[in-house]
Amino acid sequence: MRDPRYDILFDPLAIGPLVAKNRFYQVPHCNGGGYRDPSAAAAMRGMKAEGGWGVIFTEQTEMHHTSEITPFIELRLWEDQDIPAIAKMAAAMKTHGALAGIQLAYSGINGPNMYTKEVPLAPSALPIRTFTNDPVQARAMDKTDIRNLRRWFVNAARRSQTAGFDLICLYGAHGFGIFQHFLSRATNQRSDEYGGSLENRARFAREVIADMRDAVGDSMALTLRVSLDEQIGNLGFSNAELRDFIAMNADLPDLWDLAQGTWEDCSGPSRFKEEAAQEVLITGIRALSSKPVVGVGRFTSPDVMVRMIRQGKLDFIGCARPSIADPFLPKKIDEGRIDDIRECIGCNICITGDMTQGMGRCTQNPTWMEEWRRGWHPEKVAPKGSSQSVLIVGSGPAGLEAAHIAAMRGYDVALAEARPTLGGRVARERLLPGLSAWGRVADYRLYHLGQKANVQMYPASPLTADQILDFGFQNVCIATGSTWRADGVARQHVVPIPRSGALPTFTPDDLMDGALPGGHVVIFDDDHYYMGGVLAELLAQKGAKVTLITPSAFVSDWTANTLEQASIHRRLAGLGVTILLNTGLAQIGPDGVHTCCSYTGAPNQIGCDALVIVGARRSEDALYHDLTARQAHWADAGIRSVKLIGDAAAPAPIAWATFAGHRYARDLDGPDIGDALSFRREVTELARD
Ligand code: ADP
Ligand code: SF4
Repeated sequence: MRDPRYDILFDPLAIGPLVAKNRFYQVPHCNGGGYRDPSAAAAMRGMKAEGGWGVIFTEQTEMHHTSEITPFIELRLWEDQDIPAIAKMAAAMKTHGALAGIQLAYSGINGPNMYTKEVPLAPSALPIRTFTNDPVQARAMDKTDIRNLRRWFVNAARRSQTAGFDLICLYGAHGFGIFQHFLSRATNQRSDEYGGSLENRARFAREVIADMRDAVGDSMALTLRVSLDEQIGNLGFSNAELRDFIAMNADLPDLWDLAQGTWEDCSGPSRFKEEAAQEVLITGIRALSSKPVVGVGRFTSPDVMVRMIRQGKLDFIGCARPSIADPFLPKKIDEGRIDDIRECIGCNICITGDMTQGMGRCTQNPTWMEEWRRGWHPEKVAPKGSSQSVLIVGSGPAGLEAAHIAAMRGYDVALAEARPTLGGRVARERLLPGLSAWGRVADYRLYHLGQKANVQMYPASPLTADQILDFGFQNVCIATGSTWRADGVARQHVVPIPRSGALPTFTPDDLMDGALPGGHVVIFDDDHYYMGGVLAELLAQKGAKVTLITPSAFVSDWTANTLEQASIHRRLAGLGVTILLNTGLAQIGPDGVHTCCSYTGAPNQIGCDALVIVGARRSEDALYHDLTARQAHWADAGIRSVKLIGDAAAPAPIAWATFAGHRYARDLDGPDIGDALSFRREVTELARD
């Protein structure tokens, strides 16, 4: 039963001519699938409908071919033949009474047009602003271009209506949409009636919305997504200017959708942004207009959601990541199952699907983007197969997820962990600076395992192959994780780094075990994800003089994909960490390290008291190999299967481990599919000529 204090979250509310059934509003979010995987993307949205969201949006939809953001894979609505794919998504969204929304984006100064080869159009002629500094500039639109663009928006609105959508969101936030480009003095340097005063800069938005209202406004609702603060100083579209804009145009859209400055600001990871981080920027805006307001802030707590509505800050609770981590978040609140909510940890791995043009992944919800491909439902699993018992060795993210899903399926599950604390790497990493929310990976699964009569958990139980053969479990899952290498093998060095003398050398595991070097510490980061930067932060906080060297051109290079690379650099610089980029480690000496330039090999030396190597990890797979060496004894021991999963198979981020654990438990006792693909995919149909 629902707790009455959450009732307000379930009050219906009008958006223009429509009524949303509750206040749960899935704001547009990318997923890596987009136009390449339309059925996978549609099924993912359909899952949110089943999970109780009142409003569900598409990702960014490129509404005209003169503005596209290749290589990023979003949706396209360039011509009528694009309608069926997005109609499938709209239909999936509407299956449980949700309103279906489409976000129309004209990327202007943000669209390099690498695919269509069209000349980019923007309010003013400037270089295209992307993550990759593409060597392309936009042409300033003349009046004919502006008239054309207004017509293209109307065409896209009509196509959206044909596709079955209820709402249209005009994208003008995060620096990504043309509405912001017109509103901001930084990107709008025009001297005609579309530039200069705020009234002039708002003209384009007013005209497009008026045109669209004439075309579709009696049956569809129109929302405007604008930045709360462009955060580039006085030249940009500031929070104060946004307030003036809304006050001057109070009734312009049917709903105000407000999102912080750049995407990095808006979707900052938990390491840098708390829940409801945009509260100050949004407070007071609702009073400026009679139209409802939606805002975001990685909301996972129903109490915070209720507070935002009761205090009059928001009408709708906007969620992207929380809706990915748990598509059933509204339903769980409705049914009084608060402890069942799979809370987003704010790691931003979901964003890497878009950034790498891979397929979206979620650390907490391994079924995300696999709803259609593998038929995985985030809340339902098939009953167990012909065997009965499973022993899972290792309680990291892989082992915990395997245990959780196997237990849901009805197997008798034993989970053994060598260390006294369950949770594997997240039990340790959650104690590092900024990573406490990552502990939710273990907390969520341990909570569920603790509820189940068919699960036994054995901490402080390092197992051997002999013991496992004695126990007689039918299925054995080896999820024994990995350890950080101390010899420097990673990318620069594929064999150990030459060393002379006994410079104290540490790995991330040593630091997590509590061994903290002091004095001048050099960190060599050839891993390039978060660990090198996090350890630099830790050691600097503890008073060490820290020099971080990396062969890459960026600190924590891969975190550009999780939208935190700039924040990491800023934080380390703020802590006084010396950052040496494009710098390799040539040799480890007795009282320091010999470095080399990544490009020229030019040598240098740094004297130091200790070295921390953040390189590759070594799979802890000895137990697995001990067991496979004794395969002849399995049948006598009653063992039917032995599998190696997670970091013990191949080290990777936590999301890879939860996926591996999930897949293991889903596949248990499944049919042998031989050489077949384990998932469905869509192959482009060939044109007839
Ligand atoms: P993953 O990310 O793949 O889940 P982790 O490194 O987080 O891997 O977790 C692996 C866990 O397995 C660690 O907590 C480790 O202590 C545990 N472990 C390793 N070897 C054994 C063993 N022989 N018996 C029981 N637990 C083990
Ligand atoms: Fe949240 Fe991480 Fe999942 Fe994204 S990948 S929804 S940030 S838990």
